[in-house]
Amino acid sequence: MEHELSIQQAPTRKEKPDYSDLSFGKHFTDHMFVMDYNEEDGWFDARITPYEPLLMDPSSLVFHYGQAVFEGLKAYHAKDSGILLFRPEKNFNRLNISNERMNIPAVDPDFLVEALKKLIHIDRDWVPTQEGQSLYIRPFIIATEPALSVKPASNYKLMIILSPVGSYYSNSDQMSPVSIYVEDEYVRSVKGGVGFTKTAGNYAASLKAQTKADELGYDQVLWLDAIEKKYVEEVGSMNIFFKINGEVITPALNGSILDGITRDSVIELLRHWNYNVQERRISIEEIKAAHQDGTLEEVFGTGTAAVISPVGKLKWKEEELTINHNETGALSLSLYETIAGIQTGEKEDKLGWTVPLEVKQT
Ligand SMILES: *Cc1c(COP(=O)(O)O)cnc(C)c1O
Repeated sequence: MEHELSIQQAPTRKEKPDYSDLSFGKHFTDHMFVMDYNEEDGWFDARITPYEPLLMDPSSLVFHYGQAVFEGLKAYHAKDSGILLFRPEKNFNRLNISNERMNIPAVDPDFLVEALKKLIHIDRDWVPTQEGQSLYIRPFIIATEPALSVKPASNYKLMIILSPVGSYYSNSDQMSPVSIYVEDEYVRSVKGGVGFTKTAGNYAASLKAQTKADELGYDQVLWLDAIEKKYVEEVGSMNIFFKINGEVITPALNGSILDGITRDSVIELLRHWNYNVQERRISIEEIKAAHQDGTLEEVFGTGTAAVISPVGKLKWKEEELTINHNETGALSLSLYETIAGIQTGEKEDKLGWTVPLEVKQT
């Protein structure tokens, strides 16, 4: 696929929000990337334009049957090396995995990484510079064909929008553990379904359980397998890890959970540190037993938003397990410091994960 990229600069620049108080995904930069698809031309008309609302036909298929996929990644201000992206090719490869399952035409990941770099370069003065802050990047694709029949659309729009976001932790030296409600009524996904994709409907379907967890006073939901409600799957938008007796266990990619890029990075880093990491089925009973015999040392979630999110409490049926005295464990902290350090260029990137912006001045 060969694409041209046209650039239309915004005539005026918006006022920046208060960077000391950024809430997630509320403010967007001056520009966005857009590309359209039709059956004749494939993906065409790649362009960077001023950020603006879309005009869409009410019958656009995405509104009715939810044919939509997205990604999430971040750009970081690095002290000496400008702006860094973290493994961006993985996000666009994963977008194609979601596309394949959702019957959306494949995109060219290399082209999109280059287009993203140009977009960020144009809006580079939006990239926050404070510790823990970053520019959140949201690529997504929607079915735009006006039609009410249930079928794969013949027209799509791919867009990338950018949003400056604050630190996930209010105090970056202090990661605060989250409390988690183990959901045993609703289910998220089953093998053969779409749980391994980042498709919009997965998140719409999870809202009810999240509301229930909120009402019960827990921060997030941990999903169990849909068939036996016995094996751990993942958290709302994080994969999950358990450190038991010095070993680290995370649920295997079984077709119903998301193949997180932070998950992959954590596994690679732990193996690099000579930890025994097991990707396998792990039941909630096994976790309870490890808690009882004192071998459940740490639990943490992994995802782009928080990098590492220590889990202090797990509520399952009548039991509430407190993990590591509801404090951040040493391994969670090392993983956070190492990955966040690599992302911001403060730690040596031995595993070759970061991609500098390096756009030629035009
Ligand atoms: C995005 C997401 C993750 C985390 O993936 P990362 O690539 O690490 O950000 C985990 N689970 C779900 C359901 C997700 O949507």
